[in-house]
Amino acid sequence: MPMSERTCSKVACTEQAVATLTYVYADSMAVLGPLSFRTEPHSYDLCAKHAERLSVPQGWSVIRHVAAGEL
Ligand SMILES: [Zn+2]
Repeated sequence: MPMSERTCSKVACTEQAVATLTYVYADSMAVLGPLSFRTEPHSYDLCAKHAERLSVPQGWSVIRHVAAGEL
């Protein structure tokens, strides 16, 4: 299956997306994982730079399924 061209969802960023960030509001968690093939609500594609510099609201935790060095 060919991977479609996906770009970072950050405003004014045109880098290629390498990871998908999903907000789990019920658990106050931000889950960063490999680029997902389907688009889901509350999920955002991020480039390597923005995935590495990810910031979440206060009180939220971040679950990383990919290390920054692997991006
Ligand atoms: Zn970006």
